[in-house]
Amino acid sequence: QVVNYAPFTLLPSAVPSALFEQAYAVQQDFNLLVDAISQNKEFLEHTLASTIKVDDFTARLFRIHVQVLEEGLAQSVFLGINRSDYMFDCGVDGTPALKQIEINTIAASFGGLTSRTAAVHGRVLKVLGKSKEASCLLPNNPSNGLALGIAKAWELYGSQNAVVMFLVEEVQRNIFDQRCVENELWNRNIRVIRKRFRDVFEKGSLDDAKRLYMDGQEVAVVYYREGYVPKNYDQQNWEARLLLERSRAVKCPDIATQLAGTKKVQQELSRPGTLERLLPGRAEAVARIRATFAGLYSLDMGEEGDRMAATAIADPDRFVLKPQREGGGNNLYGEELRQVLEKIRDSPERTSYILMDKITPQPAVNYLLRAHSPLQASECISELGIFGVYVRQGAEMVMNKAAGHLLRTKAVEHADGGVAAGVAVLDTPYLV
Ligand code: ADP
Ligand code: MG
Repeated sequence: QVVNYAPFTLLPSAVPSALFEQAYAVQQDFNLLVDAISQNKEFLEHTLASTIKVDDFTARLFRIHVQVLEEGLAQSVFLGINRSDYMFDCGVDGTPALKQIEINTIAASFGGLTSRTAAVHGRVLKVLGKSKEASCLLPNNPSNGLALGIAKAWELYGSQNAVVMFLVEEVQRNIFDQRCVENELWNRNIRVIRKRFRDVFEKGSLDDAKRLYMDGQEVAVVYYREGYVPKNYDQQNWEARLLLERSRAVKCPDIATQLAGTKKVQQELSRPGTLERLLPGRAEAVARIRATFAGLYSLDMGEEGDRMAATAIADPDRFVLKPQREGGGNNLYGEELRQVLEKIRDSPERTSYILMDKITPQPAVNYLLRAHSPLQASECISELGIFGVYVRQGAEMVMNKAAGHLLRTKAVEHADGGVAAGVAVLDTPYLV
């Protein structure tokens, strides 16, 4: 009842190799883009202006962002760990295309557990007498890639005795995923502590140079594995977050980078000209990024928003309605989308959502193994994530990498929800 195995598919799922390679090839571009947005105060301010009027959570994050900038950034080393998620959209002629679902810039998880899934599926294939197929499964080790980024940030921070702090939830369902990354750091002789916001509130402090101390121990890197949903925060936790953001410690991510991962920012990126402005002189990167975008639409007050709201109400199955939330299970589809949008169509509340074209992948049969669930064949669809890691010191990018992949698969009847939400399970791509 306390510890279960992580859910996984019985068999690896077929993934078109061209799309897999495309997803890897665009990851460094996405790293640069997220980093550029995080440093662009005007863009964040302008893009989130309508959202923060109606979405209290985004507004509170934004206020910390502004406060920290006004005080002057104490942090000079920046570490980004993100995961860009895609589905394979099946066009009218049946050709699949790589379409981004979202990019996660805070607490992107499963890099640890998925470092083991290829071995699980390799074994299953061997048991089935398919050794040749087993040998085709790609090695994948995001734990190592993530740890390399954290280790680099720790090193550049430049204090031998400082620790890395994993900021974790009160109740840790995903502790083993985090431990995989932690172990890689201990192997490099980097000390890791695990703390909650509450611990920071009670025992965290800054010295005159804004160095962060926990219980007298200097912290070089704060790696957030929580803090991305409103329920992670009470008043004390918000104060703890502010303390961390004001500090010199490397935050992964800093609050600006968290804001760069909002759905509203994603939608604004799809406007003609925006990518070009954010990544000047990088036409090829812009083209690679744009090729992965699905249709994204603003519901801001005004003519454009009115028109999109009417279109979605008339044809709800073409779209997904997304609030500014993370963690799965928040999006609206079909009839529910229509009802909600009809209710808020003339109210500013609608600006807390964005609209996105619904992506429809080709389903395939697999078996989902989950503790306490009966085993049955299901029609499934998959979502591919690529982990990105980068480190910047001042203006100089010192690391920019794709650090491995994650394949999650779920039964088609679930429109939404990830592994943590109990819907999707861990999988391994079998390239075709
Ligand atoms: P979250 O931040 O909650 O993870 P996502 O944008 O990743 O939000 O959406 C959650 C899930 O909803 C995705 O994992 C995917 O299964 C589904 N989903 C999201 N956007 C789309 C879309 N445009 N078309 C089809 N399914 C989608
Ligand atoms: Mg998601």
